[in-house]
Amino acid sequence: MKKKWLIGNWKMHGNLASNKALIESLRAELPQPDERATMVVCPAFPYLFQLAELTKDYGVGIGVQNVSDHLQGAYTGETSPLMVKELGGSYAIIGHSERRQYQGENDGLMGRKALAAIDAGLIPVICVGETAEERDSGRTHEVLGRQLDAAFGYIRTAHDKIILAYEPRWAIGTGIAATPEIVQTEHEFLRQRIAIRDKEFAAKLPIIYGGSVKVSNANAIFSMPDVDGGLIGSAALNAREFVTIYRAML
Ligand code: 13P
Repeated sequence: MKKKWLIGNWKMHGNLASNKALIESLRAELPQPDERATMVVCPAFPYLFQLAELTKDYGVGIGVQNVSDHLQGAYTGETSPLMVKELGGSYAIIGHSERRQYQGENDGLMGRKALAAIDAGLIPVICVGETAEERDSGRTHEVLGRQLDAAFGYIRTAHDKIILAYEPRWAIGTGIAATPEIVQTEHEFLRQRIAIRDKEFAAKLPIIYGGSVKVSNANAIFSMPDVDGGLIGSAALNAREFVTIYRAML
């Protein structure tokens, strides 16, 4: 069976005490993650080192929610993927819709960030997804195709060094997840589009879904054939819910 992924995006939440409590609760709910499914948590940057320490003997991967598209230099306020790597991070979410929406990130920058992450030895979790208006006007595939081409255009890497996340903007933080049928349709579209370049790579590439995944809809979404896991926002802040969603993938 293909390996699964569950990635928790903690967004701009947490502090030293609550992060520690959350990891302790995770351990209580799930003494060790299963080898069939990788669990990753992505805290805010300042807590990266804390999380790496807290999870030393716990088989959970650590990631960040953004990285610079440069490895080093005069880029005030930016964080190099090399720094993330040194502090124990292994993953970097790239092109999240909240960064596109609030920080003005565009497709080109996303592609460069993904490349920098790979250069530093991180696994980029590349996010693509349409807005409600784009879906309503029948442009979903045009938008997904454009975002995908920008991100994957220059990337030459192995299928196990990269993760693609489908996160429709209208489903993020709204409580209204995409239906399992929509998720399957779009994952299949993304996989087929990548297969034009490389069939084997496309078949093996993990494609995960994000947007209001919760305990009540996880089973149905994860049962779709082209869904290889989830990118979880608010439910990742509750250990019991996160672990229940994790178990729904196995
Ligand atoms: P929610 O699960 O809170 O909708 O957030 C999804 C998300 O943005 C994960 O990156």
